[in-house]
Amino acid sequence: MQPQTARWICQSCRRTNPLRISLSRRRTYATATSSTSAKPEIYDVVCVGGGPAGLSLLTGLRSSPATAGLKMAMIDGQDLEKGMLRNPSPTTYANRCSSLTPASVENLKDIGAWQHIDHSRVQPYQEMQVWDGVSDARISFDWPSTNTFLTPRRPTDPTTIAYMIENANLTTGLLKRLNHVGGIETFSPTRVESIELGPEDVANSSGLDLRSWPHITLSNGRTLAARLLIGADGANSPVRTFAGITSRGWDYERHGVVATLRLSGEVPQTRTAYQRFLPSGPVAMLPLPGNMATLVWSTHPARAALLRSLAPEDQAALIDAAFRLCVADLDYLHTLTSGHADEVGWRLQHSAYDQARVPARVAAVQPNSVAAFPLRMRHADAYSGHRVALVGDAAHTIHPLAGQGLNQGQADAAALVRTISAAVAAGDDIGSTIALESYDAARWQANNALLGACDKLHKLYSVGWGPLVGLRSLGLKAVDSVGAAKGLFMGIAASNGR
Ligand SMILES: Cc1cc2nc3c(=O)[nH]c(=O)nc-3n(C[C@H](O)[C@H](O)[C@H](O)COP(=O)(O)OP(=O)(O)OC[C@H]3O[C@@H](n4cnc5c(N)ncnc54)[C@H](O)[C@@H]3O)c2cc1C
Repeated sequence: MQPQTARWICQSCRRTNPLRISLSRRRTYATATSSTSAKPEIYDVVCVGGGPAGLSLLTGLRSSPATAGLKMAMIDGQDLEKGMLRNPSPTTYANRCSSLTPASVENLKDIGAWQHIDHSRVQPYQEMQVWDGVSDARISFDWPSTNTFLTPRRPTDPTTIAYMIENANLTTGLLKRLNHVGGIETFSPTRVESIELGPEDVANSSGLDLRSWPHITLSNGRTLAARLLIGADGANSPVRTFAGITSRGWDYERHGVVATLRLSGEVPQTRTAYQRFLPSGPVAMLPLPGNMATLVWSTHPARAALLRSLAPEDQAALIDAAFRLCVADLDYLHTLTSGHADEVGWRLQHSAYDQARVPARVAAVQPNSVAAFPLRMRHADAYSGHRVALVGDAAHTIHPLAGQGLNQGQADAAALVRTISAAVAAGDDIGSTIALESYDAARWQANNALLGACDKLHKLYSVGWGPLVGLRSLGLKAVDSVGAAKGLFMGIAASNGR
């Protein structure tokens, strides 16, 4: 059989360091720096990727009594120390924020990381307003009214729908917890140069057959052999490519525009997340502490580019317009290259919208906070293979309309910790396919259902006219009027992350 080879080139070292990944038993390529023939350093777990999913997984493994003694390493191409929040200003927030579900927060408490988060920069919210930008049909979520229909409320019942947090605050908390418990060898900033199965003549001093173990060669020249290699390495996962696991899906041909905003007016007591479904994509404004908020606007790439190019006062006006003006007005505003502040000011005076049900006006857009990310849906055919497991975006990427991607990664990490702990307790090989089966069973179907639901919502609301608009509005109104149905939706959303 001809050996298969795949080639993956890291963005940051595209010109100088091609990374080759061999899918075959036989090694077919080695860069000049590759040292797979040198004696590898043996680890039980090697995790590529120190994002939210990888850090949560390693923190979980170090916090579980069954797995705390495993020899573990983490590799990240970025400098994780540099990315940590250090004495941040209370009036400046990072533009990459996520809504953490209560289930994810419980998991972070279980692994001892929640106490290391900067809580002054976390904003819980208690209400959600979601509406159709074409028909104005609306659904509002809040725990008190939702719960009473099912069971009488108790003082201990939850009032928080989710917690807004900067991704950097979360990863800083996880890194602090990891530093506190220690015991993980960290390679950062260090690139993965190649991943290959061990060579035929691999040193075998410890009585292990390392030929079937992944060997990870690093940019610092060291080679690690992993009993279990974890891919927490994001959407373009080199580990997934190495394992030969296919990932299927499509691009949405939309960009997710993010920005940090300062809002006008008093800070409300009850904090609300707003999302309006426009035919070009949903626009969401989510509360941060004080008068700050974060924007996630999924829209056509050309519109994303326009928003980024505008003067700050025009950006603020266009964002205000997105929550207030009709679709035709918004289409017109996207043909202008300047002057939005005046144009929107005039149009708002002549438009009917319910002041009480839209977010406060934008007072300022934080300088340099507007950025855009291409949106895509991808799902790996499997989450594990021989001596490999995938977590987080390496396994799945989802449309951000329900704010679930990072939470899915947290749930993956928690499930994989349970699987590895069970294998260790039973004396099994943690890298064996059989030991990892329960991880796939716990997560693949659940993630697939959520990916499908978000994908269908995106498609349903991309329609700007016709009978579908009436039907979806009826559906939204029906769910809004039935407390039990709303409770079910909220229960599902809130429990993702465990
Ligand atoms: C606009 C937008 C809004 C979102 N909002 C939400 C939200 O509200 N709630 C939510 O739950 N989710 C949200 N998400 C999704 C969320 O941001 C991601 O799901 C999450 O950040 C993925 O985390 P991860 O750890 O799996 O991967 P990543 O954060 O991508 O981390 C991967 C890590 O692997 C490292 N790496 C990659 N390749 C290599 C290599 N070859 N060598 C060494 N290191 C490597 C990278 O440096 C990186 O640190 C949103 C996404 C977008 C685009």
